Amino acid sequence: MNKAYNFNAGPCVLPKEAVESTINAIRNFDNTGIGLMEISHRTPGWERTMEETRQLWRDLLNIPNEYEVLFLGGGASTQFFTVPANLLKTKAAYLQTGVWAKKAVKEAKLFGKVDIVASSEDKTYTYIPKGYTIPTDADYFHITTNNTIYGTEIKYDMDCPIMLVADMSSDIMSRPVDIKKYGMIYGGAQKNVGPAGVTFVIVRKDILGNIGDRAYMNPLPTMVDYRTHAVEEAKNISMFNTPPVLPIFVMHETLKWVKDLGGVAEMNKINTKKSNMLYEEIDRNSLFRGTVENKEDRSIMNHCWVMAEGRENLQDAFMAYAKEHGMVGIKGHRSVGGFRASLYNACPIEAVEALVQCMQDFEKANK
Ligand SMILES: *Cc1c(COP(=O)(O)O)cnc(C)c1O
Repeated sequence: MNKAYNFNAGPCVLPKEAVESTINAIRNFDNTGIGLMEISHRTPGWERTMEETRQLWRDLLNIPNEYEVLFLGGGASTQFFTVPANLLKTKAAYLQTGVWAKKAVKEAKLFGKVDIVASSEDKTYTYIPKGYTIPTDADYFHITTNNTIYGTEIKYDMDCPIMLVADMSSDIMSRPVDIKKYGMIYGGAQKNVGPAGVTFVIVRKDILGNIGDRAYMNPLPTMVDYRTHAVEEAKNISMFNTPPVLPIFVMHETLKWVKDLGGVAEMNKINTKKSNMLYEEIDRNSLFRGTVENKEDRSIMNHCWVMAEGRENLQDAFMAYAKEHGMVGIKGHRSVGGFRASLYNACPIEAVEALVQCMQDFEKANK
C-alpha cells in the first residue's frame, strides 16, 4: 500500500487515534464484552458516552447553558427543512452563498416566504456578498459559514438584528465561535467532527419554547419537532429514538482528540498555518491560480484552484502527477472545475507539505 494523503471534501480524513479507539470499541465497548454496534443504547456506558460527547461540545465551543446540544440523524440536508418547519412563521431571510445554501432556500419555501437577501450565484459563488440588509421582520436569517464546494468562508461571527441560524457543516470546530451570536447552529458531522450519520444541532432553549406557536398553525411530526430531542423538554438524555451510536462514538473520540490538542483555538492556529501554506503556493506557482475573488473570503478548510491562463492544457497531467504522488480527493467539484484540497482538522501538516512539494515539482518539470 502506498502512502495516501486524503484531501476529500467529506466524508474525509479522521484522526487516526479516533479510528483506532473505535475499532477497539467495536470489539468490546466499555469493558462490557459486547461490541459498540451490539449494545443497547440504554446501557449505562452508552448514556455516559452521550453525555460526555455533549459535554465535549460544551467545553470546546464554550456553549452557554441557555443552549441545547442535539445529535440527530438525516444529515444537514434534513435540517434544511427541519429549520423552517420549526422556526418559519411568515418569512425567513437567506444568504445564498453556494448550492448548499440554495438547497436550504428551496426547502424553506415549502414553509413560507423566503427573502434571498444576497446571492453570489452570478459568479459561481466565488465571493461572499457584502453590504446587504437583513430584514428585521423576518423570523430568522440563515447563513452557510463555509461553502465547501467553492472554498469561501464567513470566518467571523456576524452581528444580526434577528435570530441567526448557521449551517456550519464544514467549518465547525475549526475556530472558536461566539455561540451567543447565534440562535441555532447545525451541520453534518462528516467534515470536521466525525463520520456521516450524525447531525449536530446547537439551539437556544427559548427558541424551542416558541416552536409551539408555529406547531399550532401547522402541526409538526414528532421527529421533526426539536423539542422531542431536547434534554430538558423531553426529560431524557436526548434519546427519543435510537441514536446513531457508532457515528456518535467516533465523534466523541474525535472531539477528545481536539481537546487533547489544546482545543479549537489551538486547532485554528494549526488550520491557519496549513491553509496559508497552500494558498501561498497557489499564489506563487506560475501554473495555478486561486478561484476565490477576494482573499478575505478564502476558506481555511477548502482550497480551490485552477490552472493559470494559458496552462489549462496541463490540467489532466497535474491530476495524474498528483495521484501518482499519493494525493487523494483533489479533483474540484464539477461546478468549479480544477482542484480542491480540503484541509480539515484531522488533515496532518505533512499532507499539506507533500501537496505543496508536488505542486512545486510539477512546476519545475513544466517550466
Ligand atoms: C456537506 C454539506 C452539507 C450536506 O450535508 P449532509 O449531511 O450530506 O446532508 C450541507 N451543508 C454544507 C455546508 C456542507 O458542506
